Amino acid sequence: MPTPPQPVDHELIEAAARIARTRCRGDHHTMASAARARDGRVITGVNAYHFTGGPCAELVVIGAAAAQGAYELDTIVAVGDRDRGVVSPCGRCRQVLFDYFPALNVIVGSGDRLRTVSITDLLPETYVWADHQLDAEPTAPLSAG
Ligand SMILES: [Zn+2]
Repeated sequence: MPTPPQPVDHELIEAAARIARTRCRGDHHTMASAARARDGRVITGVNAYHFTGGPCAELVVIGAAAAQGAYELDTIVAVGDRDRGVVSPCGRCRQVLFDYFPALNVIVGSGDRLRTVSITDLLPETYVWADHQLDAEPTAPLSAG
């Protein structure tokens, strides 16, 4: 079952949109992301595009958050430059976000379809890396999906 609807953190969207408007330049930085840490702080970042697989903005935010001592993120959103609005995370980011923060909420959609969903709703029946390590304890399913 998908998680019930949750409020949309518009302040977080605006933080990402502001970074996208003011800090994204040319081909290297085209996406901004903002995350709400458990303690309420907002951490922002932009992607570092490179043909070898430079990190998306969401992954930069994970590192920036850790650099500020914020290891628990509650909600994340990405916004594209050139007024593209909220952009859903790519497949790689969904997997990383799920592995780092299994209870994370993600803002997706646009206009009156903006909504907050669980990362588990964006990645149903996914591979759980931690469950396949030699010393892993079996974990309960995160979603009754
Ligand atoms: Zn990505």
